[in-house]
Amino acid sequence: MSKPKFAMYWSGSCGGCEIAVINIHEKILDVDANFDIAFWPVAMDAKVKDVEALEDEEILLCLWNGSIRNEENEHMAHLLRKKSKLLVSFGSCATEGCVPGLGNLFPVAELIDTAYTTLTTDNPDNIRPQTVTQVPEGEITIPAMKDRVHTLAQVVDVDYFMPGCPPESHQIAAVIDLVIEVLQGKAELPPKGAVIGAGHSTVCEECPRQRNVKAIKAFRRIQDVAPLDPELCILEQGVPCNGPATRSGCKARCPSVGAQCIGCYGPAEGVVDYGARLVTAFASVIDSRDPEEIEQILDGIPDPAGQFYRFNLADSLFQAGASAFKKNEV
Ligand code: SF4
Ligand code: SF4
Ligand code: SF4
Repeated sequence: MSKPKFAMYWSGSCGGCEIAVINIHEKILDVDANFDIAFWPVAMDAKVKDVEALEDEEILLCLWNGSIRNEENEHMAHLLRKKSKLLVSFGSCATEGCVPGLGNLFPVAELIDTAYTTLTTDNPDNIRPQTVTQVPEGEITIPAMKDRVHTLAQVVDVDYFMPGCPPESHQIAAVIDLVIEVLQGKAELPPKGAVIGAGHSTVCEECPRQRNVKAIKAFRRIQDVAPLDPELCILEQGVPCNGPATRSGCKARCPSVGAQCIGCYGPAEGVVDYGARLVTAFASVIDSRDPEEIEQILDGIPDPAGQFYRFNLADSLFQAGASAFKKNEV
């Protein structure tokens, strides 16, 4: 009997999610034993036309990592949605836009101008990429960038969401085990739309650090707090830590080793807007009841966009900075 088909695809991403899958070590053999790998460009040679030739929903499980940054990403999202029974938004880029989503703070033309005019860019003719270029050998086309980064679910219907930048390998392994158990009739799939491979509380709930002091008079960068108390909550030592707003599931990996959580598992269960929840959490540890002073202390956070929306801007209530909505007026 033929095995069910598996696919994995990357779009606007860094490749880290693909590495995280490889990081499950020998568990990858279970994938091979239970699935026929139909399409996984990073791991094997297969062409888009091979996917186009499949029946609709012939792929049982497709893990999609990466944001929707250009027209090719969007085209592939529609194609793999059509060909897959279960489409998983895998990782922060697919689920929230992640760091590529910070591009939504600027119009596309400004992003391109910046990339092609940096101090280290050798571009004497001030060339910009064109979607169609004629060369002696024929016509070269590249996909056009979309006005904004979108999440996968903003473009197509998604069955499950798996957060993390990247998802932790133990969580990937657990999800693979679950799918195999479903195939063997030993378990049932979670309800459509569920978050899988993650917890249901916050990073703070998994964090071993003690929380008891609420007396922040200023926020500081972690390198300016030396030495950091190894037992005490990092946020309560004045270093912005995103644990209170971030979904659990990573076993509080960063605060456990002395680094603040930067929020890669996305909004905790029930959080509508990640940044708004985080501002509230930060305000709650500030040692002041004066709204102006609280605002002044919050203003001391060095990179507010990165702090509050590093992973989540494209999926936030804003979705983009105001200038990005001006499209290509630069
Ligand atoms: S979620 Fe993180 S690790 Fe995965 S592709 Fe995006 S940036 Fe890379
Ligand atoms: S704010 Fe950070 S350091 Fe403090 S308990 Fe939460 S995750 Fe741990
Ligand atoms: S502690 Fe925060 S930043 Fe670190 S892995 Fe967990 S969710 Fe991601």
